[in-house]
Amino acid sequence: MDALSISTAAYIVAALLFILSLAGLSKHETSRQGVVYGIAGMAIALVATFVVVADVAIDSDDALGVVLLVVAMVIGAVIGLWRARVVEMTGMPELIALLHSFVGLAAVLVGWNGHLEAPHYSGALADIHHAEVFIGVFIGAVTFTGSIVANLKLSAKIKSAPLVLPGKNLLNVGALVAFVVLTVWYVIDSELWLLVVVTVLALALGWHLVASIGGGDMPVVVSMLNSYSGWAAAAAGFLLSNDLLIVTGALVGSSGAYLSYIMCKAMNRSFLSVIAGGFGIEAGPAGDTDYGEHREIDAEGTAELLRNASSVVITPGYGMAVAQAQYPVADLTKKLRERGVDVRFGIHPVAGRLPGHMNVLLAEAKVPYDIVLEMDEINDDLAATSVVLVIGANDTVNPAATEDPSSPIAGMPVLTVWEAENVVVFKRSMAAGYAGVQNPLFFRENTQMLFGDAKDRVEDILRAL
Ligand code: NDP
Repeated sequence: MDALSISTAAYIVAALLFILSLAGLSKHETSRQGVVYGIAGMAIALVATFVVVADVAIDSDDALGVVLLVVAMVIGAVIGLWRARVVEMTGMPELIALLHSFVGLAAVLVGWNGHLEAPHYSGALADIHHAEVFIGVFIGAVTFTGSIVANLKLSAKIKSAPLVLPGKNLLNVGALVAFVVLTVWYVIDSELWLLVVVTVLALALGWHLVASIGGGDMPVVVSMLNSYSGWAAAAAGFLLSNDLLIVTGALVGSSGAYLSYIMCKAMNRSFLSVIAGGFGIEAGPAGDTDYGEHREIDAEGTAELLRNASSVVITPGYGMAVAQAQYPVADLTKKLRERGVDVRFGIHPVAGRLPGHMNVLLAEAKVPYDIVLEMDEINDDLAATSVVLVIGANDTVNPAATEDPSSPIAGMPVLTVWEAENVVVFKRSMAAGYAGVQNPLFFRENTQMLFGDAKDRVEDILRAL
């Protein structure tokens, strides 16, 4: 068997492993297995690629390709291992966004190479090749800058509020129309300057699309960029005639699109408006409403409330992850349950910074699964709850989402914690949450603020109990 047949067979096995990996990742119980399948598939793909390159090197008696491949693999492996070791759980989304930007950049480079080193096709084959180059560069460049903006927003290096340029929808639609026209032009006459124009256009469009999306919708954007990066990889696969890249790209592209769709439904957002860069979102009011005074409580006071409570619901958010408060929270849960208090958790679908973030943290701290409920399962019970502890959550418990149609997060379903008898909010200051909007919950009559680091405050409560 020659190297090409071996690699083709290996690519099929790897593609199957990737499909099994996705299937495994869809459930808690099988997710570890899913990760193992993914690692195995990627290892096989890397070895098969090496075999193909080595075979070409032997045939042509030129080792440059192998050397370049090994250098790229070593650099990639060192950076990958280093980032994976040091990344905090809270930093995962921005790391993922950065990785998507690499996929986009790779697709742009492959596309450019497809132009500069164009094979000698003629007729329809040449047209198809040109279309592949152009579309690949476009998707890759949109993914590249879009992912960089997502990374900057998620790591709070730029503001998460949506950028609202005048006529922004027109800009996006205009860019898409220009892309279609330029593609046709390039297929007819493959001039280099057309490729330069589409690259610049797509870089600007990617930047603008993601910059236009407000903080609260970022989870959808991250999964949407995941999808774009898949299509960019598939486009590169066509150019390189690499079947595995096409299959994997299509898997990532379609699963990312489906995840974005599910998340849009969960957050009551229109899928089309989010992928079109917040289409229809206009600038909201300045948000300087005066909600009155907030009230404070200390750890002893909270312990007293809990002592007298019959039912407690804990709604964790991003701040619990920052403070790493899940361990004392698990201890508090145990202690209260031993005293006969009914304790449950209410998890918002986008609490934290990545889907399932809170579930992972609570599982890590060994909180029993059966008391961790989804938002829809707990919302109806909140009115009959004695105390709700909002631990480092903000946007996900904001009543403005349901009560103020002009709010940037209007329409997003939230945990209706304000219906409970007492609400205690754990945070360090009166600062806004990720979406950058004020939270009227903090000023409600039944709400009290417990300021400080969430972990320290929960430990104080444990001592007081
Ligand atoms: P938010 O990000 O809205 O708010 C977190 C709150 O935690 C802040 O107001 C902050 O207040 C507080 N906090 C931070 N550190 C600490 C600490 N050490 N101790 C105590 N409190 C702390 O959190 P939510 O989870 O409610 O909402 C998630 C937001 O993130 C949503 O807007 C969602 O759309 C977005 N998002 C979600 C993603 C996902 O997939 N889940 C992905 C990307 C974005 P203070 O500074 O005063 O302490």
